[in-house]
Amino acid sequence: MTISHTILDAIGKTPLLDMGDGIFAKCEFLNPSGSIKARMAKYMIEKAEAEGLLKPGDTIVEATSGNTGNAMSMVAAIKGYHMIVVMPAGYTSERVKISRGLGAEVKFVGRFQVNDALRTARELGAQKGYFCPRQFDNEWNVEENREWLGQEVIAQLPEGMRIDAIVQGVGTGGTLIGVSQALRQGHNDRIKVYAMEPTESRTIECCIVADHQIEGISDGFIPTIYQRHRDEIDEIIHVESETAIEVSKRLGRERGLFVGPSSGANVWAAQELKRRDPGIKTVLTFLCDEAEKYLSLMYS
Ligand code: PMP
Repeated sequence: MTISHTILDAIGKTPLLDMGDGIFAKCEFLNPSGSIKARMAKYMIEKAEAEGLLKPGDTIVEATSGNTGNAMSMVAAIKGYHMIVVMPAGYTSERVKISRGLGAEVKFVGRFQVNDALRTARELGAQKGYFCPRQFDNEWNVEENREWLGQEVIAQLPEGMRIDAIVQGVGTGGTLIGVSQALRQGHNDRIKVYAMEPTESRTIECCIVADHQIEGISDGFIPTIYQRHRDEIDEIIHVESETAIEVSKRLGRERGLFVGPSSGANVWAAQELKRRDPGIKTVLTFLCDEAEKYLSLMYS
């Protein structure tokens, strides 16, 4: 171990946890800023700097339901950029407070109106001195997940161990598509790829948009990244919000994994895939963020 100059050095190298019963969970909640979005925020901001799209004194503006806001606020604070997080109202307040605590300005649009947040961020981002990373349609998001998170998973898998399936909730789709591309190319070209979304809000399956409590996924529209890569997905699996929260709480009580609802939904989906298809012996999934971000939803 050597001395770090910023906490960005602590992003990545998260444990790949063997949960038993053939389920492997990548512990992304352990990243600085508490979620799976830390890698993407660092990668996209540094790529924008390298390509001259982001210069000292500029403002970063991004639409997010929360975790990307926290992650980009962290990176912006370290690098000295002003950060504007555009968020729909209605999500738990913790992630708003975290972004503010990390020095960002938070702008609200209507309740759960992610489309309005996207438009506002795009409009602000078009001004001189602003940069909008556009996480829902920027291929850099997929690239990061393929080249960093995906390669890290492959390197951690024990010799001779084969992963049969991958399941992940779809927010932008970046994690699922990027990591599955890496696994198809460098691990198992026949891996089955499952997108997970809430039962109440079957958006990617049939455009039904409804309230649900698996925050961070199914944001009310089909993200461009998902649309572009949908032929890489084998199937969609659905999980009820209530089940997601119940399983997340159980992960805390029984395994010391204090994680949010999308993590519970992912673990339930991984177990369900094994129940449905005996041909699936091993499943990779993700523990996406920490439960501290949902105390008011899960533990009030
Ligand atoms: N779970 C949580 C809690 C998230 O915040 C996100 C990202 N919004 C996801 C899952 C899904 O990640 P992705 O955007 O890569 O699809």
